[in-house]
Amino acid sequence: MTILQRLLSKLNLDLRKLILFLAMFSVFSLFVISLAVSYYIQRQQLIENSLSVNFDYASKIAQGTDLQFKSLVKQLAYSADILGHSFDDSSTLQNEVNRLRYQSDFFDSVVIINKHGRFVSYAPEHLAFNKQQVNKTYGIQLSLEKKAPVITPPYYSIRHNLIVFISQPIFDQNHQYLGFIGGALYLKKNNLIRELLSIKYNYQNSYMYVLDQYNRIIFHPDPKRIGETVTHNSGLAHIQATKYGKMELVNSQGHENLAGFAYVPSTKWIIVSQQPTAVLLKQATSIVYKILFGMSIFYLVIFFIVWRIAYLISNPLEQLAKMASVLNTPDIDQKIKSIEPWYFEVLKFRLSLLLSAQNFKKRINELNYHVNTDPLTGFYNRRGMDVFTQELINAKTQFCVIAIDIDHFKQVNDTYGHDKGDLVLQKVAELIQANFRDNDVCCRFGGEEFIVLTPSTDLNIGYKLAERLRLKLESTLIEGIGPITISIGLAHWPDTSIHIKAVMKLADENMYQAKANGRNRICM
Ligand code: GH3
Ligand code: MG
Ligand code: MG
Repeated sequence: MTILQRLLSKLNLDLRKLILFLAMFSVFSLFVISLAVSYYIQRQQLIENSLSVNFDYASKIAQGTDLQFKSLVKQLAYSADILGHSFDDSSTLQNEVNRLRYQSDFFDSVVIINKHGRFVSYAPEHLAFNKQQVNKTYGIQLSLEKKAPVITPPYYSIRHNLIVFISQPIFDQNHQYLGFIGGALYLKKNNLIRELLSIKYNYQNSYMYVLDQYNRIIFHPDPKRIGETVTHNSGLAHIQATKYGKMELVNSQGHENLAGFAYVPSTKWIIVSQQPTAVLLKQATSIVYKILFGMSIFYLVIFFIVWRIAYLISNPLEQLAKMASVLNTPDIDQKIKSIEPWYFEVLKFRLSLLLSAQNFKKRINELNYHVNTDPLTGFYNRRGMDVFTQELINAKTQFCVIAIDIDHFKQVNDTYGHDKGDLVLQKVAELIQANFRDNDVCCRFGGEEFIVLTPSTDLNIGYKLAERLRLKLESTLIEGIGPITISIGLAHWPDTSIHIKAVMKLADENMYQAKANGRNRICM
């Protein structure tokens, strides 16, 4: 036995339970597997979608931002060109900074700085910069050093605003450097760029933030985090290295996120759009619950059908198995035949059980025969005879009891030997059998004594039958011995007595009377 068989046998299952068990096991495991697979597929699909949506979104925003910055640079370049011709005209300078500051909401402040680092013009006026002072802030220093277009990383301005500074150098007709014109974007205040970046698209808790090349946060839905440098984000190195793409990352708060990111070439910023994985997967779970609900109805139906079929399959076998243990009941054949053999194994089992039942019956009959029969003559013995007398009495059928005893049989034995004696017994039995009808019951009662029961026979007819037998024996020469004679006693049930013992006793007494009267005769 395998381990599995051993385990199953401990459960004490019958065929029906086994089929049900098997069905339950396969249905349930299919159910679980299909749920797991559909959860996995849903999850992958949602993750794929989220990554793509985030990437597309980050790309669009990056593209838009880049265009904005390029247009700002162009605007400054155009102004720088004009200012190159009229750097000494303070009203032109002021007009130009005012125009750039107020015509649109791009810049939070606009300044013109001369080559020595001093303010020449600025807007808005309330900034109240000291025009005599040489400026050392990062954006101004960088612009002066480069004498070329500049977009700075974020830094803190004189007024402690976190800003990005964009500048264009101003040259005169002789290509002499005069200074520059620059505009500042305040990262923590509202302006057009900030508006663009912080558009709320609020899809399943998605959010967007912008990093500069040093991983500093430039924009974030939580304004407090602007300016902070991100360190514990598992995706940073990959994002900075590849600049465009999508990935699963763990953010600085330790939450798993699905992120798409894209690069803004003009500012070297990276736009990251991301969505918490857990929020997204809640969706997958709820989809799986819906599937679970939908499928469980079908599985219940399937299970019910399997349960019914299990019954149909196991019931005939179960019944046949029960019958196999009671093959000796009288009408077992009919019971076996009543089982509908609707599939091959039942047909076979039913057939072999029928054969077994018939065989069983035959064997029982054989046994009965041996128990009730005398082997030498084939006549019923005393037991057999008792069975028949009882049956005749039960059926209230009258009958004669004819008691027969061979005369001087001892002499046959003594003269010719016991074997010859046996042959004589057989021959006499043959003659007795031939003398009576088939439904008369011939029995060997003891050594050389026989009894014949003749149903539906009165004493007169019984006498005639006995007389015919006596004459037959008397006139039959048995090989090597000569004729054999018999003495016969007669009695009748119920005429002699309704007690069978009394009838038997009288037949015996009559037979002895025949002996006493000289043998080879009948007494009644
Ligand atoms: P009676 O005329 O008074 O009946 O004399 P009998 O010799 O026939 O009667 P008895 O009762 O004296 O002897 C019966 C004999 O039958 C004794 C026994 O040897 C013999 N005998 C009984 N059964 C068998 C048997 O199965 N085979 C043989 N060969 N002999 C048997
Ligand atoms: Mg005798
Ligand atoms: Mg005798």
